[in-house]
Amino acid sequence: MMQYILFDVDNTLYSTRYGLERNVRRRIVEYIATYLGISPEEAIRQRQEHMQWYGTTLEWLRAEKGLTDIDAYYAAIHPEGEADTLPPNPMLRNFLQSLPLPLAILTNSPKEHADRILQKIGITDRFTHLFDLRWNGFKGKPKAEVFYQVLAVLGTTPETTLFIDDTPPYVEGYRALGGKGLLIDEEDAYPTYPHPRIRRLQELTEYL
Ligand SMILES: [Mg+2]
Repeated sequence: MMQYILFDVDNTLYSTRYGLERNVRRRIVEYIATYLGISPEEAIRQRQEHMQWYGTTLEWLRAEKGLTDIDAYYAAIHPEGEADTLPPNPMLRNFLQSLPLPLAILTNSPKEHADRILQKIGITDRFTHLFDLRWNGFKGKPKAEVFYQVLAVLGTTPETTLFIDDTPPYVEGYRALGGKGLLIDEEDAYPTYPHPRIRRLQELTEYL
């Protein structure tokens, strides 16, 4: 029996078609290229290479590239107005309201970004907690300690908390702890994913 539902934000609570995360990725690549003085192509290559070991670009840049000005990094990749194209989603709001369990957020983004998104969609007050990368001491999903810290605050366990994310390694990290992890794959990008997968958030009710 589930006790809590934990949601990712980007490309989970809004459709990939708005391109918000694509724009964030573009700004991340631009930031890496400028910061390291390399071409965008090389920035993409290096980022891909290192994302096997780090949950976020920020963790990589801090651990290996001497990045210290975290606020400047966040301001560059999450500028004000980044969520302006996102429309309110009253249907999602009603759906979240209809769920019989409390809901929380776990994002590898900073709170200011997540707040902006939730506010634009109109669902801020649906969640009891928002756990962001700062709260997690700049450690991100899929690290086990991140999930455990969050669940300790919620007073639940992996077995009683449904976690929904659009990034397979994050879901797999949670499942490795015995957690109920659900992949949201709106565009059918992972047809061979071997574990539970939904196309629309509304389908999550089957897993409660
Ligand atoms: Mg996401």
